[in-house]
Amino acid sequence: MSVTDAAHATFVHPVDAPDWDALVDELELLQESDAPACVERGREHLDLARLHGDEHAEMRLSCCVAFAHHALAQDADALRAAGRAQQLAHELGDLVWESRALVCQGLVHHEIGDVEGAIDELDRALGLRRRTDDDAGTASVLNSLGTVYMGMAHFAPQAAQVLAEARRLWLAADDPDHASMALTNLAKAYVVTSGRLAATNPRGAVAAARHALGIARQSVDEADAAGLARTGIDARLAVVGAHMHVGDLEAAGQALEGTGTMLRTFPSARQQLQHHGLRGRWLVRTGRLDEAVLALCDGLDLCAELDRPGERIELLSTLVDAHEGRGDLPSALATLRELHELTLQQGDAIADRRALLLSSRLEVERAERAADAERTRARALEEHNARLEHEATHDVLTGLPNRRALDVALARWSGDPSRRFACALLDIDHFKRVNDEFSHQVGDQVLARLGEVLHDVIRASDVAARYGGEEFAILLDGLTDVNAADACERIRRVIVSHRWDDLMPGGNLTVSVGVAVHRPDETVGSMLTRADEALYHVKRNGRDAVQVAL
Ligand code: GH3
Ligand code: MG
Ligand code: MG
Repeated sequence: MSVTDAAHATFVHPVDAPDWDALVDELELLQESDAPACVERGREHLDLARLHGDEHAEMRLSCCVAFAHHALAQDADALRAAGRAQQLAHELGDLVWESRALVCQGLVHHEIGDVEGAIDELDRALGLRRRTDDDAGTASVLNSLGTVYMGMAHFAPQAAQVLAEARRLWLAADDPDHASMALTNLAKAYVVTSGRLAATNPRGAVAAARHALGIARQSVDEADAAGLARTGIDARLAVVGAHMHVGDLEAAGQALEGTGTMLRTFPSARQQLQHHGLRGRWLVRTGRLDEAVLALCDGLDLCAELDRPGERIELLSTLVDAHEGRGDLPSALATLRELHELTLQQGDAIADRRALLLSSRLEVERAERAADAERTRARALEEHNARLEHEATHDVLTGLPNRRALDVALARWSGDPSRRFACALLDIDHFKRVNDEFSHQVGDQVLARLGEVLHDVIRASDVAARYGGEEFAILLDGLTDVNAADACERIRRVIVSHRWDDLMPGGNLTVSVGVAVHRPDETVGSMLTRADEALYHVKRNGRDAVQVAL
């Protein structure tokens, strides 16, 4: 291995990054076709994305996994993954993925009956998407919002409005297939509205149904022309519903037949169930009650097979009418009981899902609080240790390193043969007089001030320490005899010329300094003795001067 190879090798990640774009495309396909596989593949690559610190990849994978969890009715997992995707997208300023993550959260909340939450999130998703100027993306959010509105009695006008806008945008984005889907959803929205109005406002119901019929017919034509089987069947089911609400049973029958034929070629569980429901209701309305019971029971079997309790409720309520019409009151009553049971269970199931979600949210919050407390505790401990360490090595009065810290520095410096340094001992002249004339407190303040002055006057690599009492030591880095004298002289003059008036009115301060330049292999003790002798020499000769030790 060459030198450059070896250097390069240290930067190679333990596992190479995959082609994230291709992976995300694959996950998006799996999301619809095989949600468990999407979750599994997504999870394993999420670890890899985190290992690489690739937040953009993590964001996209989390979002795909969130949608897959949603498809599997794993609400808490879906919300957690979508929440993470949203947070990353927000930090990365990626409006498209933030909007997608919000849509996922909205759909989960819709599923568990939190309609206000769902609408709030979808509204926010819509706002973000509009800012991207991406018509197709905006249309897709509008379509989701429209489906949520559709389930709410008071929001029928909003449903129609957002679905119509979704269609307009998809047409503008040159996406006629999705535009047809939006049109079909719009027809469904009017059918739902008509059904809702039937009891209280029959004329309004018929008007809505007529409107639905016009739109549904147009979507049938569009879907057929484009060869969109799924949308074509949905549109036909809307046509059937509209005919029933208008009261044109013959036309409804024909449309049902056409839908049935198409469903045999393009079977789909969801649409087959809807067809069974509509056919059952149509048979009841046309008085073919025996056939109705058979058709509805077939539908109920299919529901059991597919585990679709929502559709089961619809079928059971029509079956009650069928039994009643036949005069079979015991069967009607039994069916009514089952319907009642199931409605309660459905309510319970939604309540259970919400409770589960809430408790997992609480768990996350509790874990976050515990982690917070642990972080605070660790920080306090760190601060406490740092304070203890500082207290053990610093003098309280002057804030300078204390004698102990000085000894450590002296041992280190003298043990390093490449380091040249000098040690100065500095003693305040006649300090007893300061205490006597101005008080001991003022004496303390003068010592503290001298600490500051020394701290400011030395260089960053020097060390000034309180040696004891009114004596200080300074380790001067890289100094020889000549410049040691110069450096100490400069320090002495700074001290003398400092204005001490505020602490000692009319008073001044001088210092005596003895300095020894460290000799190769000299012990610390020997150097300090020489510095001390030089200091005493100054004291004996009138003070206020610097002496370099011999
Ligand atoms: P010299 O010029 O000979 O050094 O005279 P001096 O008065 O400075 O020296 P001496 O050793 O006689 O006295 C030192 C004084 O410093 C006595 C002591 O009270 C005072 N001193 C020592 N430590 C402190 C302190 O922490 N605070 C105060 N206020 N005074 C202190
Ligand atoms: Mg002294
Ligand atoms: Mg003194």
